[in-house]
Amino acid sequence: MVKCPVCGRANLRRERRHAEQDGFELGIYVAEVCPTCGEVFWMERDVTKMEMKAKQIGIWGLEQRTRVATVGNSLAVRIPKRLARFLGLRHGLEVTLHPLGKDKLIIEEATKRG
Ligand SMILES: [Zn+2]
Repeated sequence: MVKCPVCGRANLRRERRHAEQDGFELGIYVAEVCPTCGEVFWMERDVTKMEMKAKQIGIWGLEQRTRVATVGNSLAVRIPKRLARFLGLRHGLEVTLHPLGKDKLIIEEATKRG
């Protein structure tokens, strides 16, 4: 058995796990999981498959850093073109902003809210 390289307190167990990125399912793979700290270790060949799946559904590389700017009295966040296209955001679209906890922001098309 292999000890967890993160916490070193338990042996890793093999489990079938759902792989997910940004809320999209990337498939079910066998992973080694630490029962103590919960760290998940994927097999390298499966990580390659997950990347291929993420590219196939168009979510690969969507995450990007951006800076908060000032426009008049408000703050503005530039949304990269590719991410905007993926989300269906366009100039003039009415959106609703709502916080998710203290460090995340949800941008939702206003007409999609009930
Ligand atoms: Zn651990």
